[in-house]
Formats: sequence, structure tokens, C-alpha cells
Amino acid sequence: MHHFEYKGKVLHAENVPVTEIAETIGTPFYLYSHATLKHHFEVFDRAFKKIPHITCFSVKSNSNIAILRLFGKLGGGADIVSGGELFRAIRAGVPPDKIVYSGVGKTREEISYALESGILLFNVESLEELDAIDECAGKLGKKARIALRVNPDVDPKTHPYISTGLEKNKFGLDVKISVEAYKKAQAMDNISVVGIDCHIGSQLTELSPFVDALSRLKALIDELKTYGILIKYLDLGGGLGITYNDEKPPHPIQYAEEIIKTVLDLGCTLILEPGRVIVGNAGILVTRVLYSKKTSKKKFLIVDAGMNDLVRPSLYGSYHHIQPVVEENRERETVDVVGPICESGDFLAQDRELPRCESGDYLAVMSAGAYGFVMASNYNSRLRPAEVMVKENEFYVIRERETYEDLIAKEKIPGFLED
Ligand SMILES: *Cc1c(COP(=O)(O)O)cnc(C)c1O
Repeated sequence: MHHFEYKGKVLHAENVPVTEIAETIGTPFYLYSHATLKHHFEVFDRAFKKIPHITCFSVKSNSNIAILRLFGKLGGGADIVSGGELFRAIRAGVPPDKIVYSGVGKTREEISYALESGILLFNVESLEELDAIDECAGKLGKKARIALRVNPDVDPKTHPYISTGLEKNKFGLDVKISVEAYKKAQAMDNISVVGIDCHIGSQLTELSPFVDALSRLKALIDELKTYGILIKYLDLGGGLGITYNDEKPPHPIQYAEEIIKTVLDLGCTLILEPGRVIVGNAGILVTRVLYSKKTSKKKFLIVDAGMNDLVRPSLYGSYHHIQPVVEENRERETVDVVGPICESGDFLAQDRELPRCESGDYLAVMSAGAYGFVMASNYNSRLRPAEVMVKENEFYVIRERETYEDLIAKEKIPGFLED
């Protein structure tokens, strides 16, 4: 469920006409619905209410501090993958004891920052990283709580770029060496082994890979018990998919029921790291048609948002539904919706049937709340777009559009070039 609906002919976000926002702040911009964000978080979190759990929102899917603040207020934690994300989560008021830190390349600076902040645990992805954490904790006179991220070698049946739980992927520790790794961790002075973790991929539309991964983790938890290693936190990662086009992912309630069945007797606290399923359909990208043109092969709609604003179509060939913000009864035609960037890979949709559009029309690119703004860049020296949150009858700019001065703020001309 989301709150982007037509009232009369005009697309609204909750009770605010999208045209009103576009005319006030210009385009392109990301637009999020507060009610949708809240609803998605609550449905997911409540689905696990039968067992002790922490819903650690995956900050990399959408890291705006207003959104992090909202989930923090709803009782959520954060799953972070960098020092920058830790900084955001703390600034947004997420309690550090609900923050888990994943990622294959944590630096010593980042590890120390996380230790000093008092995060719940590190999801450790290699033996060398384990050594680094032990060393950093020793220097700070702290004990680092850790889980090992195990690669369970299950096929998540998703896009290869977003599959992470296969033996050939760079993530986690090979399940075959994980018992040895646990023994090693258990023997370290400054490490406290508290958990086990996996994250097998993103945009999963079936439950069976989650269940397979979970059963491998469960077997490992039992084996570890025989060595006196007790697992308190079981982190299942994120990855539940959403509907962009015609996918039929399981509902969070189904997902939760399947998981709860398996973990109920383990006595662990479950950690979940949902990203896309919470924010994906809670956000859209609003853009304006600049020009249209016909070549002998195609018709192009050139819009003011490009791959620097939303890279998913170019990067993964992802589908995003596109619809006019003002519905007119016009004939349909097949077009490529492309951005202003000087790359042929710069498109939002190809061979898409849309009602005929004219210069000045606004278009809504749907399901853009996850991996949207966070992947935006300044390529072609374009200003990253604004982000807006609607709540009922009001809209709030939660990140201003960048300015030309922002573009060069960190750049310097060396003395020898000055005259
Ligand atoms: C990306 C990521 C997530 C979130 O994945 P979604 O598919 O957005 O739910 C969770 N955990 C880890 C470790 C990740 O890298």
C-alpha cells in the first residue's frame, strides 16, 4: 500500500497535489510519503512481535536523516555499512545499542568510531577484519561485540549484481570455515562473540532462499553450542523484494511467519535489516519533460532527471513504472524516457508505452524510494535533486536541491595556477 493516488486528474502524495510541489520547488525531486514510510515500517516490525527482535533499517537504501529519525522514533535500529552511515544514524537519533555494522571493508578509523559510539555489534566479514577489530578494541580498552557474517551459499534468484550469498560473492565467511573462525574469535581478548549473521541478496521474491539460509545458520548455531559458543543474536539481513512491475514478492507477514517457525525454539534475539521493502514504494521521483524528438527508429522523451539522479535503470536494467502527474485522455505511444546526461546508457525507461506527453508535463517515476537518491551523483556537474516528505496536507523539504556553489565547494586551484 502507498499513498500516491490520483484525485481528480492529479497525482497526489497523501493530500498534496504533486503539481503544487513541483511548481514550488522545481524539478527533479524525490518525494516520500510519511504515512507510507510509517505504515511499511510498522507492518514489518509488528509481523515479528511474537519473538524478541530488532528491526535495523538498512541505511544504505535511503539515508536521509529525516527518514532515519522517523524509523528511530518508531523503535527501529539501523544497519550501517560505513562511518558516514553511522554518523547519519547517530545524528538522526537512532540509539547506538540498536545499530549493527556490516560491510567487507571497514577501516580501523571506522571500527574505532563505532566502538566509541557503543554500537550493538559488528557483522564481521573476514578473519583479517576480526584481527583489526580485536586490535582497535584493545587500544580503546573495550570489548567488541561481534557476529560473523556467514555466506550460506544459497542462490537468492535475483539480479547477479545484488546477489550476495553465493560462494562466488565477496561477502561473508565461507560457511565451511566458520566454525574455525568462531573458535578463533572466542579466544580473542577484546572480542565478545554474540551473534551470527547472513544477508543473501536484495529484491528476493521467493521465501525458499531465506528458509534455506536460515536452516544452514541454525545447524551452525547447534554445532557452535557443542563448543560452548552461545549465539544470542541471529541476524537474517534484509533482501525482501517489492513490486516494481509484476513481481509478486511474499508479504512481510508471510516472510515473518516462515522465519518465526524456524527460530522460535532457538531463544535468540532476531535482527532484521530491511531496506527496500520499507522505503521502495514510499518514494517517487518527479521529473519534467524538456523536449520530445523522433528519429527514424524511436521517439524520445527527454526529461530533466537522468542516470545521475536515478541510476537503477542504467545500472541494473531495472523497471520503474512511469506515469503522468496530470492524467489527460491522450492516445498512447511507445517512447524511450531519457535524461540529459551524455551517455547512451542514460535512460529511465526504454520502449515504454505512455500517454503522449508534451514539453512541460510532469512525470512520476514510481517505486524510487530505495536506492534512489542515495545513488545519485554529480556526473555532468548536475545538481543532486531535492528530497521532500509529505505528511497529510503539508510538504517538507528534507534535503535542499544542491547549488552550483555546492558543486565546487571542496575544490581548490593550486597556487602555481594562480596569477
Ligand atoms: C543492502 C543490505 C541490506 C538491505 O537490503 P534490502 O534488499 O534493501 O532489504 C541489508 N543488510 C545488508 C548487509 C545489506 O548489504
